[in-house]
Amino acid sequence: MALWITDECINCDVCEPECPNEAISMGPEIYQIDPHRCTECVGHFDEPQCVQLCPVACIPVNPAHVETRAQLMAKYEHLTALSPGPAEVSAAGTPATPS
Ligand code: SF4
Ligand code: SF4
Repeated sequence: MALWITDECINCDVCEPECPNEAISMGPEIYQIDPHRCTECVGHFDEPQCVQLCPVACIPVNPAHVETRAQLMAKYEHLTALSPGPAEVSAAGTPATPS
């Protein structure tokens, strides 16, 4: 399951830089987690880093995004593939010629 941040968040800024998937960002009032980027840290760490660090324990699992560990690993692999190196960007056919 992806995780989510409840309204008990105190905006301490601790979790955002520690997320290996850049899934955490500042929302309109409190921090939020993009469920499409959160893998519960599967692929990176044994435990969810944000949960380990949050001082007020306001990051439960998101019941709206139930996923198995295999699905979380597949999401991790998909996210990794979305971060192309220079060769892959070139292969995508984007013209690099300045006008
Ligand atoms: Fe990011 Fe991991 Fe927290 Fe998900 S569990 S938001 S991937 S730090
Ligand atoms: Fe909010 Fe917890 Fe993240 Fe701090 S660590 S910004 S309290 S969710």
